[in-house]
Order: sequence, then C-alpha cells, then structure tokens
Amino acid sequence: MALGRPSVLPDRVPTVREFLATGRRTFSFEFFPPKDDAGERQLWRAIRQLEALRPTFVSVTYGAGGSTRDRTVDVVERIAHETTLTPVAHFTAVNHSTRELRHLVGRFADAGVRNILAVRGDPPGDPMGEWVQHPEGVLYAEDLVRLIRQSGDFCVGVAAFPYKHPRSPSIESDVSYFVKKCQAGADYAITQMFFDADDYLRLRDRVAAAGCDTPIIPCVMPVTAMGTIARSEQLTGAPFPAALAARFEAIADDKAAVRSLGIDHCAEMSQRLLDEGVPGLHFITFNRSSATAEVFQRIETAQALSA
Ligand code: FAD
Repeated sequence: MALGRPSVLPDRVPTVREFLATGRRTFSFEFFPPKDDAGERQLWRAIRQLEALRPTFVSVTYGAGGSTRDRTVDVVERIAHETTLTPVAHFTAVNHSTRELRHLVGRFADAGVRNILAVRGDPPGDPMGEWVQHPEGVLYAEDLVRLIRQSGDFCVGVAAFPYKHPRSPSIESDVSYFVKKCQAGADYAITQMFFDADDYLRLRDRVAAAGCDTPIIPCVMPVTAMGTIARSEQLTGAPFPAALAARFEAIADDKAAVRSLGIDHCAEMSQRLLDEGVPGLHFITFNRSSATAEVFQRIETAQALSA
C-alpha cells in the first residue's frame, strides 16, 4: 500500500472516508491557529512548503476560545479557497450552544469543507480543570459526532488515546466510550501523539477486541529540542518513555544532536507503524515545516511514492 493521493476520486474535494476506502494510506499535517501576524506568516510559510509534499489532508486545531476560534475558521476557509490542500477542521464543544455549533458547521459547509474532526475540547485555561457543559450544548464528543452527521454529508473524525484519556478512570471505560463514539458515526480516528509504537498497537488491539474496525490514524511528532519532551507531556498528560528520555538527556547540551535523534526516532517509529499496517500517518508540525518534511522524506514508502 502506498501513501498519498488516490488516482480515482470524485471531482469535488474528497473526504477522508472516501480516501481511506481506496485502500491507500493517508498522510497529513496538523497546524494550529496563529496568535498574531508573525505567527500567521510562519503558518503560511509552513503550509506552502508542506503543500509541495501533496498530503492527503491538513488539519487545523480549534482554539480554546475567543479570537483563536475565529482564526481556526478563517485558516480553514483560506486553505479551502487558496490552496490545493484538503482541510480538516478540528471542532470542539467547549462553551458552545448547539445553535452555535450548527452555525459553525454551516460556515464550514459554505467554504466547501466537508471534513471535521469532532473533539470535546478541554476547559480553557486549565486542561485538567472541571469540564462544564454549556447549558444548551453537548456533553461528549459522541454527541458532537451526531450533531455534525445530522447537519449534512460530512466526514467525521474523532480522537483516540493510546495511554487512555487522562480523565478516564480505566483503560476499559476509555475503550468502551471510544467505541460508542465510533458507533455514533465517526469515520476514522486520529490518536493523541505518542513516542512508542507499541502503545499505539496495544490501543489498536483493544479496540479490535471490542469489535470496532474504525481506522485509527497514528499521530507522530519529531522531538526537535529538549523542551518538546516537557511540552508533549503537558499536551498528552502521559509520561515520555523513560528509556528514550535518557537517550535525549545524554546529549541534551548538543542541540543539533537532539534534533537529529528526534528525527531518527520519529522516522524509525513511523516506518515501523507503516510496516504494522496503519491506515496513515498524521504529523504534528507546530506550524513549522522542516523537521516534518525531513521525517517524511526518510520514510521508505514516501520515497517509493515520489519515485
Ligand atoms: P470524549 O470522547 O467526549 O471523552 C472525554 C472523556 O469522557 C473521556 O475520558 C471519555 O472516556 C469519557 N466519556 C466519553 N463518553 C462518555 C459517556 N457517554 N459517559 C461517560 N464518560 C464518557 N482539543 C482542542 O481544544 N482543540 C483541538 O483542536 C483538539 N484536537 C485534538 C485532536 C486529536 C487527534 C486529539 C487526540 C485531541 C485533540 N484535542 C483538541 C484534545 C481533546 O479535546 C481533549 O483531549 C478532550 O479532553 C477529550 O476530547 P474527546 O473528543 O476525546 O472527548
């Protein structure tokens, strides 16, 4: 199976569902909405440089509130109108009534965006704080999946957690609610980032054992600086693998060596995941292109594709 764009797809912008149905593997890049003009320029530089790799789709995360939310919608609309890329809009339920959620789904549809990643979102400010449902909103991502499905012919992705979601009391409940989310109409899932392929494979086994065959796309990210390790722990709520952390700590004073090890590790793990038959690879970019492009170019399957 090769990575990339399929040869036979509808004339309109394809959905991730349609792409996965062709049997080819997705590869995708994730961006976040910029906070200021300098961030905007950096984002668009990365988008333009990574566009040349012809990813299956690019996704834009949904901000925790206020102006970053509007920027998410703006960036997604601009990608849809001004690039050759297929945008996937992340979308959360935080502080939104169902009326607002439907209005935003309509804005995506208006821009020709048919791919939405439905996540519940974390409380603004403190991701581990109490999650408060909007009085006229939805409670779980599962409800958001239904709302989007009822709004039109959208392709809906959801989140999956190799280490279980930090709020889940057990691995078992985490899997059973994940399966319910898929049964509500999710077409595929993207995982939280991880740094040990076995963590992804165990999740895949658990979900399969629960009778669910929704494709789960692994999310990878190269460590490019020692700060990335702490940042990843904050984002995932999961400890960075100790043996790998020790390898980075041994070379912590040499920035170039840290970046090089990060790219080696990410490329090797990505290749192993492809060898294990994953449906695709999703790269977190932090709105920069070079490390992601280097990893991508190191993956054998990608080289075969561009040959
Ligand atoms: P849910 O599936 O609703 O799960 C939340 C918790 O509730 C879990 O512990 C789950 O097991 C439990 N649960 C689910 N259903 C039930 C039920 N019926 N009864 C009892 N318990 C239940 N955040 C952002 O703010 N913006 C983004 O753009 C964004 N993008 C993301 C992309 C990916 C790929 C991932 C993995 C995460 C992303 N997040 C984003 C973070 C995400 O919003 C948080 O991790 C959030 O806390 C959980 O979202 P969820 O969709 O998994 O929620």
